[in-house]
Amino acid sequence: KAVRPQIFAKFSTDAKLYSKQHNPPRVPNLIGGAFIESRSSEYIDVINPATQEVVSQLPLTTNEEFKAAVSAAKQAFPSWRNTPITTRQRVMLKLQELIRRDIDKLAMNITTEQGKTLKDAQGDVFRGLEVVEHACGMATLQMGEYVPNVSNGIDTYSLREPLGVCAGICPFNFPAMIPLWMFPVAVTCGNTFVLKPSEKDPGASIMLAELAMEAGLPDGVLNIVHGTHDTVNAICDDANIRAISFVGSNVAGMHIYARASAKGKRVQSNMGAKNHGIVLPDANMDATLNALAAAGFGAAGQRCMALSTVVFRFSLLIKNITNLHTDEVYLWEDKLVERAKALKVNAGTEADADLGPVISKQAKERICRLIQSGIESGARLLLDGRNIVVPGYEHGNFIGPTILTDVTADMECYKEEIFGPVLLCMQADSLEEAIKIVNKNQYGNGAAIFTSSGAAARKFQTEIEAGQVGINVPIPVPLPFFSFTGSKASFAGDLNFYGKAGVNFYTQIKTVTQQWRDLPGGSGVSLAMPTSQ
Ligand code: NAD
Repeated sequence: KAVRPQIFAKFSTDAKLYSKQHNPPRVPNLIGGAFIESRSSEYIDVINPATQEVVSQLPLTTNEEFKAAVSAAKQAFPSWRNTPITTRQRVMLKLQELIRRDIDKLAMNITTEQGKTLKDAQGDVFRGLEVVEHACGMATLQMGEYVPNVSNGIDTYSLREPLGVCAGICPFNFPAMIPLWMFPVAVTCGNTFVLKPSEKDPGASIMLAELAMEAGLPDGVLNIVHGTHDTVNAICDDANIRAISFVGSNVAGMHIYARASAKGKRVQSNMGAKNHGIVLPDANMDATLNALAAAGFGAAGQRCMALSTVVFRFSLLIKNITNLHTDEVYLWEDKLVERAKALKVNAGTEADADLGPVISKQAKERICRLIQSGIESGARLLLDGRNIVVPGYEHGNFIGPTILTDVTADMECYKEEIFGPVLLCMQADSLEEAIKIVNKNQYGNGAAIFTSSGAAARKFQTEIEAGQVGINVPIPVPLPFFSFTGSKASFAGDLNFYGKAGVNFYTQIKTVTQQWRDLPGGSGVSLAMPTSQ
C-alpha cells in the first residue's frame, strides 16, 4: 500500500507519528514517488546503540519490489534527462535550503540510530549539504568541449550525457553525508537513482528523500530500497542499472566491484582505511596532541578518515636502551593519554558527550578482541577503555578511548582496520622509516604529517602513498570542488566521488562531428581514411 510521504514527515524524530500502524515502526521503501511498506516477511531491527531500544524495523525488500524501484527509475529517466539543467539545479538549490531547515531533526535521527554526538551528527549532515551546494552549479560542471574547424568546415564537440539508472550502496557511519555524496550529483547530471541505505541506520536517507521530493524532485527520480546482501546482489546484477557507487568495507566493496564490473557496470568503490599521522619532533605539541585526540577518538573512531595510527619520529641517539622509547616519546604519549582521559564518553544525545557508542554489540566485541590481540602480541596498553560503564546507559555499546603503544606492523591490531576509539602508537627513527611504514600498509585513504619543517612536509607529500594528505591537518577530507581520493586498497574504480571526477562518473561522453558548408558533391567517392591535412 502506498503511503503519502507526509506521514513520515517527522520520521524518526517523532516515533509516535511514524508508528501509526506498527510498533516499532517499519521503514518504508520509496518507489516511484510513494513511500510504500514492504510486503516482505523478513524484517531486521534498527537499534539505538546507546540504549538497545529498537528504533524501527527494516524490510529485506522482495525481488518484486526491487524490480519495481528500478522500473520506476527507468521510467522517470527520459523526461528527467530532458528537464532543463537549470531546473534540475533549482531542485538542488531548494534541497540545500530544506536540509538547513531540518538539520537538527536529521542530526537527532542520526544520533538515535548511529550513536554519534549531536554536534558530530550535524557535521555529518553539513558535509553532505556541501555536495548539494556544489551540485547547484552543475551546468558549469557538466559542460562539454568544442573545437571549431577540425577540418575545413567541420566542427567537433563533446557532450557529457547522463547514464540512465544509477545506484548507491551506503555504510552505517555517515548516514547523511554518504547518500548525499551520491544522489545529488547523479540526479543533477540527469540520471535517476536507486539508493540502498545501510540497514543499521536508514532514517536519514528517508528524511533526505522526503526533502528532495519537497524540493521538487519528480516521482521515480530517487527511489529507496532496503535490505542487505540479496538487495546488493540484485543491484549488481540488474541490467537496467548502469553505475554503482559504493562506500563501505573491503569485503563488500571488492565483491560489488567484481560482480558489477563483470556485468559491464561502472563502479566507484570507497573502502576501508588505516590512516597514519607522522609526528616529527618540531611539531607544535599542543596543536598536534589536540589533533591526534580529535581525529583518533571523534565519532568513536568510526570514520574512514579517522587517524588510527601515530608514528612518532624521534632520534635513535637518545633512545633508552631498555625499550624502544625515547624520553620525548614518553612525554608525548603521557600527554596524549591525559587528553584522551579527559574526553567524556556518553550517549550522543547528552550535551557533554565527546564520543558516543560504537554501532553494535558485535562491533564492540570485535574492537575489544583486536585490543586484546595487540596486548598478547606485545603492545603496551597505555589507556584501556574496554570496561567503561556509562551511567544511565549501562546497555550501550560504549568503549572509551584506548591507546596501545610499541605496536609493530606484524600485529593483527595494526593490519586490520579497527574502526573504534583505539589509537595505535609506533616509533620510527627517521622520516624515511616513518614514510616506509605508512607506504607498506595496504590501505591508502589518508595520511598526515605534523611538523614545522616545510622541507619535511614536502618530502612527505611527494613520497607518501595515500590519496588524501594532511600537512598539520589530521582529517584531510576534501570539500566537494575537489574529489574524495582514496587510493590503494581504500578505493577501486577509476573515477572518485564528487568534484569533477564525480560528475565524470555519472556521465558518459558523446562526441559529435558536424559539417554545414555547401558540399561540393562532384569529387566522387573516396575510400581513403579522411584526414585533415
Ligand atoms: P559494510 O561493508 O559492512 O556495509 C556497507 C554496505 O554494504 C551496507 O549497505 C551493507 O548492507 C552492504 N554489505 C555488507 N556486506 C556485504 C556483502 N558481503 N555483500 C554485499 N553487500 C554487503 O560497511 P559498514 O560496516 O557499514 O561501514 C564501515 C566501513 O566503511 C569501514 O570499512 C569504513 O572504512 C568504510 N568507509 C569508507 C569510506 C571511504 O570513503 N573510503 C567512508 C565511510 C566508510
